[in-house]
Amino acid sequence: METEKLWQQFKKKLAEVGDFEELEKLRVEFLGRKGKINQLFQKVTSLPPEKRKEFGQEVNRLKGKIQKAFLSRERKIKASLERNLTGKKIDISLPGKEVSLGHIHPITQMKWEVADIFQRMGFEVLEPQEVTTDYDNFTALNIPPDHPARDMWDTFWTKEGYIPITHTSSMQNWIYRHRHPPIRAVVIGRCFRNEATDMGHEHTFHQIEGVYVDKGITVANLIETMRVFFSEFFGKELRAKVRPSYFPFVEPGLELAIECVLCGGKGCSVCKQSGWLEILGCGQIHPRVLEEGGIDSKKYTGFAWGMGLERMIMLRMGIEDIRHFHSGDLRFIRKF
Ligand SMILES: [Zn+2]
Repeated sequence: METEKLWQQFKKKLAEVGDFEELEKLRVEFLGRKGKINQLFQKVTSLPPEKRKEFGQEVNRLKGKIQKAFLSRERKIKASLERNLTGKKIDISLPGKEVSLGHIHPITQMKWEVADIFQRMGFEVLEPQEVTTDYDNFTALNIPPDHPARDMWDTFWTKEGYIPITHTSSMQNWIYRHRHPPIRAVVIGRCFRNEATDMGHEHTFHQIEGVYVDKGITVANLIETMRVFFSEFFGKELRAKVRPSYFPFVEPGLELAIECVLCGGKGCSVCKQSGWLEILGCGQIHPRVLEEGGIDSKKYTGFAWGMGLERMIMLRMGIEDIRHFHSGDLRFIRKF
């Protein structure tokens, strides 16, 4: 029978079809306007009248079978495409494409390292809220609204009057209110300042804030704590010294310097031949700041410090421009 022959022929071809393109070719070949089914239909007229009806029904049945087979094949190809999105046959003997793996950003690596050192020294490590209130960023730190010291920070403001934090000191009040002395806490997080960028300044940078509050805490504790931290961080015993400075939330305010990590104190271009690197601002926490946080300043004293994480990484890794960190330049990132 002619229809049976065509059906067998069709089945064989369908079994060889691998993708939609080949399937469409086959569809045109059999079901197209000039396809094999229509050619069969045309034969009807050449048959004797008594055979026409039967033949016509037979071709119709074949057409239905072929259409059904197409649909089921289409579904199968679709399903396999979903498994293999390229839709191409895969030669599993080919060597694989090399997958390039990312790694942890140097800032995150150093954040973890700094956190680890302070945790070993008994400090709790916290992250700041990146957007906060005027109260937490300024007022609670002894910087009331009309205080001229506000000019020390170039502040961004949101339309609603909130502040992307200008320093991680913004967490001090929260810490005093949620912890009881002895308090040892370090806050590591991003800060934002509305200032022109250059090799040493970025609008977005990381700060490490720390506070230590207990009975009888003095500047001597501060210097030793910092000295131990920097010796750990830079991997060698370093000396530290302080000189007076001013920050509204500490009294006395101090600037802490460590022995130059590059020249060992002999003098080089990085330390401007002084042998010392001024690395952070710190001091005894102002009694008003403690009281604002609900801590009795007659009973307790403490120290606080704030330093830039990028600056420390730059010193340790010999990086000259702070803007590299957020540049997204993979040549820089891959060095770590
Ligand atoms: Zn030096």
